Amino acid sequence: MEIIIRRIKSIYILRCFLFKPVICLLFFAGSAKGQSPPATDSSLFYDSHFHLTNYIQEGIDIHAFLQVMGTKAGRSTLFGIPLQQQWEYGNSGDYAPSYYLASDAPLYYYSFTDAYIAMVYKSITPEEQKRFDPMITGFNPTDMYAADHIKRVLKLFPNVFSGIGEFTIHKEFVSSKISGETASLTNPALDRILDFAGQVGLVVLIHNDIDMPFPKGGQEPYLLKQLGELFRRHPNTTIIWAHMGLGRIVQPIPDQLRIIERALADSTLNHVHIDISWNEVAKYIVASPAATKATADLINKYPNRFLFGTDEVAPATQETYLRVYEMYGPLFKQLTPETKNKLLKGNYERIFDAARIKVRLWEKSNVARPVTVPQPTPVSGTPE
Ligand SMILES: [Zn+2]
Repeated sequence: MEIIIRRIKSIYILRCFLFKPVICLLFFAGSAKGQSPPATDSSLFYDSHFHLTNYIQEGIDIHAFLQVMGTKAGRSTLFGIPLQQQWEYGNSGDYAPSYYLASDAPLYYYSFTDAYIAMVYKSITPEEQKRFDPMITGFNPTDMYAADHIKRVLKLFPNVFSGIGEFTIHKEFVSSKISGETASLTNPALDRILDFAGQVGLVVLIHNDIDMPFPKGGQEPYLLKQLGELFRRHPNTTIIWAHMGLGRIVQPIPDQLRIIERALADSTLNHVHIDISWNEVAKYIVASPAATKATADLINKYPNRFLFGTDEVAPATQETYLRVYEMYGPLFKQLTPETKNKLLKGNYERIFDAARIKVRLWEKSNVARPVTVPQPTPVSGTPE
């Protein structure tokens, strides 16, 4: 397959130089400059949270994204979005919704995203591949078979994936729109997923809001309790909790930072990390000098537990891609140099490099293993 892709590439380059020499020279000179990983890594950050495609499974070409990363982002995770917004003619007519807020029609799990991401990754050079950590997302977390899907993806596309996610359990506006059973932190299907991820060494990137939108005063944030219990049930799984639990309208709860500090101090949660991705999260953190300082103090106190990410979805330009990084300027200024480096690169490197090694080892001993077909149940009609 790789030979075929290379051959197609070289025919394309040859034709290009024969028929459009000037354009071609410009394109390939630009691409060579923008796409090769920096010789000495002077990049600003590694991106622990990046979507190549959107809610209708469209996005930018991986080569275009390499251009967008340029020398600013040294490495990045790579995933699509596990959910597809359905275009229901009866709901929006000729208007084609491309975002979950643009229609009342449901979302559904789109497993093909994993094959898409794997093929995209396989289409770039080994040097370019080193800059990416692809993630499996196309599973339904309410399905007891979800872990089997993840296993199937690893076996079909070995040497590709480093983790699973971003997948969502509770998310404002989104969870209630998904067809089928409502996802829950207490569902054993989710335990099977996290068990399997721990067994293989896959990093888990999970989105779960810290609370419901617009909670009444004094109301118990039950999601937080369930989330803590879920994390504690899987001590051997490396987990990244996306966005510190915040959202578009899920605001920092009273004592948000103190609650997170308590969790970080709890040795039963040492395997849990937090990403500060999304411009919506940056918005809260830089909203006031006091909020910025309190967050910086917490990150300085627990420098190994936080990761930077953009949460950008198929950004068209480098300027768009860098906006979250730019927003965080006031926060970065208050971090010690060591903490800043860990937040932007060091923690990513430690977590994902370890995952690459573990997942490759698991694949080595499992890819060739024959699939064991489960015993038929009495109702399956298989003759005795
Ligand atoms: Zn995201």
